[in-house]
This record gives sequence, C-alpha cells and structure tokens, in this order.
Amino acid sequence: LTSRELTSHYLQRIERLDSKLNSFITVTADQALKAADAADQARAKGNAGLLTGIPLALKDIFCTKGVKTSCGSKMLDTFIAPYNATVVEKLNAAGTVSLGKTNMDEFAMGSSNESSFYGPVKNPWDLSAVPGGSSGGSAAAVAAGLVPAAMGTDTGGSIRQPAAFCGITGLKPTYGRVSRYGIIAYASSLDQAGPMARTAEDCAHLLNHIAGHDLRDSTSLARGVPDYLDTLDAPLSGLKIGLPKEYFGDGLDPEVAAAVREAVRVYESLGATVREVSLPHTHYAIPAYYVIAPAEASSNLSRYDGVRFGHRCENPLDLTDLYKRSREEGFGDEVKRRILIGTHTLSEGFFDAYYKKAQQVRRLIRQDFLDAFEDVDVLMGPASPSPAFDLGAKKDPVSMYLQDIYTISVNLAGIPGISVPAGFVGNRPVGLQILGTHFAEAQLLNVAHKFQ
Ligand code: GLN
Repeated sequence: LTSRELTSHYLQRIERLDSKLNSFITVTADQALKAADAADQARAKGNAGLLTGIPLALKDIFCTKGVKTSCGSKMLDTFIAPYNATVVEKLNAAGTVSLGKTNMDEFAMGSSNESSFYGPVKNPWDLSAVPGGSSGGSAAAVAAGLVPAAMGTDTGGSIRQPAAFCGITGLKPTYGRVSRYGIIAYASSLDQAGPMARTAEDCAHLLNHIAGHDLRDSTSLARGVPDYLDTLDAPLSGLKIGLPKEYFGDGLDPEVAAAVREAVRVYESLGATVREVSLPHTHYAIPAYYVIAPAEASSNLSRYDGVRFGHRCENPLDLTDLYKRSREEGFGDEVKRRILIGTHTLSEGFFDAYYKKAQQVRRLIRQDFLDAFEDVDVLMGPASPSPAFDLGAKKDPVSMYLQDIYTISVNLAGIPGISVPAGFVGNRPVGLQILGTHFAEAQLLNVAHKFQ
C-alpha cells in the first residue's frame, strides 16, 4: 500500500462522512497528497521510518505554516500561521501526512466542542451526543475512521475526556514532556499536547516523535526520551493499582462505575493488586482550576487586540473602540466569561483571596498524588462522571465545569494520564482513566496496551 493510496482513502472518507460530523475545520487535501508522494519516494529510496506516509490530523490549536490556524475562534478565522509548532515540525520530520485541522472548543475552553465558532462536532457513535471537548474534532475523526490518529491538547481533560466519549485512546503527557512552542496558549502552566489514536500502541508511536526538550519552550524538560514501544509488552504481575475513593463517589453514573470496576478486574486477572487510596483535596480541584486557568487565559488572550493579528472591527472611532469592538466581535461567550473571571481574580485586592489561594490548593492537590504514588504504581478511575451527554444538554456553565472533576487535578499536578476504551453504556463509550507519576508515560502506555 502506498501512502498516496492510504491518504486518498482517508480523504475520501472525510469527503463522504464529515458533513455529518463536522470534525474538520480545514482539510488540506492537496498538501496531503504532495506529502504522501514525498513519503512514497522516501520509502522507495529506503529512507522511511515507522511513521513515514501515515496520515494524521492536528487540532486547530497547532500553528501550521501557510495553513489557517483558527483555534475554533472567529478571532482567528483568517489567521494563516507563519510558522510550524514544534510538534508539527517533529511530525513532519517523521514523515507523517497531515490531512488537516480539527474542530475544537473556542480557544480550547469547553468540554463538549459546542463553543466552537465552526459549530458543534457530533459523536460518531450517536449523532445526538457531543464528542467531548475541547479536542472533540480530533476524537470524532479518529473514532469515525476519518484518520488513523490525531493530535490534541489537554489543559484540564481535553484529550482524555473526548477520547473517553468517542471510544478511543488519548494520552496527556507529563507537563514539560512535549514542547508547547507554537501551540496557541490557553493556560500556560497546564497546557500539554498529546496523541489521540485507536490504541496505546499507536499513541506510543506518536509520543516517540513528539516528546523531548525544545530550546523554544523553556518549560519543556531536558530529559531523555525512552522508546515507548520497548516497554509496551512488559508483564503486569505485581503492578499495584490504587482506586481513589473520591473518584467513585456521588455524581458518578453507576454504569460508568461498573464498567471501570470491570476493567480493574481484568488487571487483577493479569496479576495486579488493587487497593483503595485517597486524594483528599479532590473536591477543591474544580474551584482551583477555574481560578487558575481563566487567570492565565485572560493574560494570554490579551494579545488579541485587533492590531497585530486576528479579527479587526470595521471603521474604529479610535484606539479604544478598536480594542473593544474587535474583542467584542471576535470572542464567543465562553471565552468572554473566562476573560472576565480571570481579570477579576487577578485584580488588585482580589489576587491574594483567589489566585494565590488557588495556587496553594494546587500544591496540596499535587502532594495528594505524590503521597498516593508512594504506595501504588498507577491510579485508575473513570475519565468522566458520565458517558457522552446530549448536544445542548448542559446549558449552564457550572454544570459543564463539573464534567472535569476527574481530569483537571491531573493537570494541576502536572502528572500524565491516559484514557482507554472500557465498554459502553448503551451505545455510548466509557473511558478508563489511568494515572501515573511524573514521566511515567512508558508505564501508562504499557498498562493501557495490556488491556487492548
Ligand atoms: N473543560 C476544561 C476547560 O474548559 C478543559 C479544557 C481543556 O483541557 N482544554 O477549561
């Protein structure tokens, strides 16, 4: 099979099916076919690596040179990125073929993909359900077989929750494992890019290429990258699994709980031992996150002023009018809500009460995980309290924020997490979330792989 044949196959599926799903914002068919031909030539010359010629898709938050990079926002609807994100450079160097840019919540703010300027994405398992968010387009495209793998980003669950809702595998690496250079910033101390694919093995292939230090991201870590394929098949006997009791309490759908417990039994049959652990500060995670993330977002989004790039209003009266109306017209409601929250909590007189307090809570949440990993190797629980909900079902923002209960503490702590398919409730998939300590990606991929 040539890369051109493979690429054409997926492009045809996108053409035929994506009008129903809306998982792509931009399809770059011509560039893809050119890249596929280049990959086929490289292969003919014996220059091919494992990923040469493999099609994939990029969440529209990754800057791609010469290609529209909208971040799901009207603000960037006409923005053509002048450079590639490091992740994109690395994937190009590996010979992969990008088919285009996937739909997402506006500026990655959301849990359902409904805040996108380009309209919601539908869940391929059930068109009346959301695909999750914010990397909903990437998850839906992989689940529907429009592309074999896609890149997402995860600030508070945006890889793991849509992976769970769409029945695929999604890995959020340790903060600092993958360069953030060229990824449009949402909350810089939490953002991390990672692979979304059918299996942990496919995720390992991608992580092998995207992980590593980058001089252009001072928060990326100078630490060697192992070959994540080497340990995929390591035996699990003796693995110590912790079940955080706070992840199985009120608010968890009983059928999701049953599916997760069933998955844990599979691990026991493979020789793992299971015990209950506690992450006592879990219930502070949502309030802490929804102070820290909007605070960082309000600062990151101040660059969209209608002057340098992005949407500019027509006929401004003066500079203030230009700022105000460009931002008023360019940003959607959820983004404005976050900017208001963030500006408020950072303002003089409120900083200590909100932002500083939230940072202190963050420290405690991180410590909970480190304490738990003294006793167990990995933690397991649900990725989300329910399976995918109906489009339009969560109208008030707080009910949407509560969706993130099992995912956001992981970003606050900086540890890695993976969601793997673990059955269904009716026709909607359930995700098992597996968490490890900092830089435990190889272990998470190994544990996930054994289940698949
Ligand atoms: N749902 C969370 C939020 O809206 C997480 C989003 C993300 O991880 N990008 O902030």
